[in-house]
Amino acid sequence: MWDTVVIGSGIAGLTAAAALARRGQRVLVLEQHHTPGGLTQTFRRADWTFAPGVHYLADVGAQPGPGGPFGRLLAWLGDGTLRFADSGNPYDVVRLPGFEFAIEHPEAAYRAALEARFPAQGPAIARWFDEMHAARKAAFTLFALRGLPPWLAWGLRLWRGAELDRMRQRTLAEALAEIPDARLRAVLGARWGDHGAPPETAPLVEHALITGAYDAGSWYPVGGPARLAQSLLPTVLAAGGQIELGASVERITLTGGRADGVVYRRNGTLHPAGARQLISAMGVRNTVDCLDREVAPAWQAEVRGFRPGLSYLSLFLGFEGDIAAAGASSANVWVYESEAVGPFWRAPADEDAPGLFVSFPSLKDPACAGQPTAEVVAFCDAEAFAPWLQAPGAAPADGDRPEDYLAFKAWVEERLLAQFLRHFPALAPLLRFHEMSTPVTQQHFVRTPGGATYGIEMDAARLGSPALNVRSPVPGLLLAGQDVSGAGVPAAGMSGLLAAAALEPALLRQLGG
Ligand SMILES: Cc1cc2nc3c(=O)[nH]c(=O)nc-3n(C[C@H](O)[C@H](O)[C@H](O)COP(=O)(O)OP(=O)(O)OC[C@H]3O[C@@H](n4cnc5c(N)ncnc54)[C@H](O)[C@@H]3O)c2cc1C
Repeated sequence: MWDTVVIGSGIAGLTAAAALARRGQRVLVLEQHHTPGGLTQTFRRADWTFAPGVHYLADVGAQPGPGGPFGRLLAWLGDGTLRFADSGNPYDVVRLPGFEFAIEHPEAAYRAALEARFPAQGPAIARWFDEMHAARKAAFTLFALRGLPPWLAWGLRLWRGAELDRMRQRTLAEALAEIPDARLRAVLGARWGDHGAPPETAPLVEHALITGAYDAGSWYPVGGPARLAQSLLPTVLAAGGQIELGASVERITLTGGRADGVVYRRNGTLHPAGARQLISAMGVRNTVDCLDREVAPAWQAEVRGFRPGLSYLSLFLGFEGDIAAAGASSANVWVYESEAVGPFWRAPADEDAPGLFVSFPSLKDPACAGQPTAEVVAFCDAEAFAPWLQAPGAAPADGDRPEDYLAFKAWVEERLLAQFLRHFPALAPLLRFHEMSTPVTQQHFVRTPGGATYGIEMDAARLGSPALNVRSPVPGLLLAGQDVSGAGVPAAGMSGLLAAAALEPALLRQLGG
């Protein structure tokens, strides 16, 4: 019998588990994969190490300081064992045909560079930043609503509900439409991949929250993102907790209407585990798929109604030699094939990607001992991979991937690689290795329904839905993770803290940093 069972060892699950351990709880963490960390895990091929789900981090900066609330939380939970390297300035570059713009922090530097490059657009730039500030404030309140006790959330909604509803309905595309200059529009909208919702549906508040977070700086974990799990797990274990890897939760069990256990499969055998309460950080759809249909049916129906967000293809590249001399840097490059930055990849077999996100992680990690690497992400419609994706709730597929999938994947990989090399030709002679992940890979390793990049589709309906609050309608069952908080390691981690604080209110003190 455990104090709490946490399902999923991504940053949300591990933050929740370590926070509860700090309050003396014995926590069992169950993870279906054989490596902990969820999207913060890394993998190795020969002398190259790749990080599929972390390219840069906000909110972990100089401590104490305005940039570091999540960093201060991690320092507390992990006994100060984590370090973060500044990704430098500029940290993002937007590259359009015949035009490049480097984004620097702090915001004042970014804004001054925009004003210098687009001198006739001063009033539009001023309006944009005013709107971003207001949207960011609204985003924080919407996030807080996820974790507040129902009576407090009710009061806050009464006070600010109408304004918050108006804010969450405004899309990024609507805000961009008020920018007269096409190139400026492209620069301001280019980074929607940080939350994975194209401008037509992306709530402006989410865009403001995520891109604005980097205004305080951009960092990379020293030693790679796997260090996050390596730093948090000892805290869980020191308090008498445990982690089971390869432990796939299949059922959440209730006694007298209260969630108090799980049944998980490990090495083909089913095991029960009991606890006073559960925190599910495996994705909200995966959570309801583990419940009997008659448990909180209205909530289950609402959750089943959410669509998975956009998926992505990721190309992992290994080099030998000096990639910095060949044009790579610690800044991420957002490459677009035209000034229309909204479209995503619909037919990967037949056309090039409209945009690529390119990161060179080995240049960001001062402790990287291996060979240089690049990671290239292209957001795509998972439809192209539909024949090989599993339906939600289906048992995970084992065994080799089918031949037709492998052939399709190889074809798309060659196309994506050729597109990358057209934009970075000087890197071609140094290239030694490439491998591509698809929506099928994403679904396999972290079980995201539909192979979605960041879980549930990010739109206004999802932002306003109480179905994604930390407290689920099932007594004893709490939720954490990117479906609750929105995309990003800091946001998902903070949702883990909110879930833990719902059980141990003293933890709320850690929210302020
Ligand atoms: C390509 C890509 C690039 C990204 N880049 C960045 C970035 O640069 N900066 C940033 O801040 N964020 C980035 N993100 C987003 C960030 O990685 C995620 O938002 C965050 O890590 C999500 O954490 P989580 O704990 O909610 O989910 P996850 O990390 O997905 O963890 C969920 C865990 O639950 C486990 N699980 C699922 N089902 C079960 C089950 N039945 N039983 C047991 N375990 C189960 C999964 O295996 C997984 O380990 C990126 C994501 C992607 C995909």
